Amino acid sequence: MAISTEKFQKVEIIERKDYSSDLWSIRVKTEERFVFKPGQYATLGLERGSRLVQRAYSIVSSPCEEDLEFFFELVPQGELTPGLFELKTGDTLWMRRQARGLFTLEDKSGHKKIFLLCTVTGVAPYVSMVRTLARAEQENRSISYEITLIQAASRSWEFAYREELEALAKGSNWLRYIPSVSRPWEDPEWKGEVGRVEDITRKYLDSLGLEPAETLAYLCGHPQMIENCKGILKRRGFPKESIREEIYWIPAKKSGVEAAV
Ligand SMILES: Cc1cc2nc3c(=O)[nH]c(=O)nc-3n(C[C@H](O)[C@H](O)[C@H](O)COP(=O)(O)OP(=O)(O)OC[C@H]3O[C@@H](n4cnc5c(N)ncnc54)[C@H](O)[C@@H]3O)c2cc1C
Repeated sequence: MAISTEKFQKVEIIERKDYSSDLWSIRVKTEERFVFKPGQYATLGLERGSRLVQRAYSIVSSPCEEDLEFFFELVPQGELTPGLFELKTGDTLWMRRQARGLFTLEDKSGHKKIFLLCTVTGVAPYVSMVRTLARAEQENRSISYEITLIQAASRSWEFAYREELEALAKGSNWLRYIPSVSRPWEDPEWKGEVGRVEDITRKYLDSLGLEPAETLAYLCGHPQMIENCKGILKRRGFPKESIREEIYWIPAKKSGVEAAV
């Protein structure tokens, strides 16, 4: 099939890291420089028969890096991720030439307290944001944000960027990183926070004094987490203009029988 090279470019995988049986990241080299803002996403695709199957993926890397990075979760019954999962270093895939998305730190309110909430791969846009701020700090620009990032995963080896985020948080006074394990019984070595994002959101909002009048909340990843956390934020007084969301997928509709079980 003919892919429009006006709209798409071929990108080559130059590195792959696997974190668990269904979580991995890749770094890709682009044909031409890809312009984007931290928090935006790229559209990646693979030819499948006569079709180009394409999906949105938040960009993990910062615009100040040479290559692009993505963090994936395998959806075994999915159309695209099983094909992406097969790819190794040296393989190529298609990527739209234009970045998309409004899930960025840019905001008219001027709020500087930022509350970032996510499930597993939903950390991707936040890594891009904090890598970019860290680079700005290295260049002696002062950081006016106060960022709290909460990431929940079933088990600790699913965090993927934990070491990097912990190191950044340790070396800065603008980032706080709270990884939380929601199935501690499957990860007995874990000594950190436990619970889903929903379980701990209110506790941290209150204890850190993240008041609705001066805080922007970002929700990324699992649709149910986003729905639940929007309710928690709303009940805590957050107006909807102060809540940003990036929903990664729409849950498949269950049949009447399944839904009732
Ligand atoms: C703006 C945006 C950014 C995104 N960024 C990322 C990212 O950084 N990393 C990433 O892995 N994904 C990301 N996604 C999700 C991604 O676009 C795909 O939906 C996902 O990879 C599944 O694609 P698929 O073709 O394999 O499955 P599909 O064929 O699209 O889906 C098959 C079924 O699985 C369900 N489903 C889809 N994803 C999941 C999931 N993760 N868990 C459980 N059920 C699911 C769908 O509702 C559908 O019923 C993002 C989505 C959006 C909208």
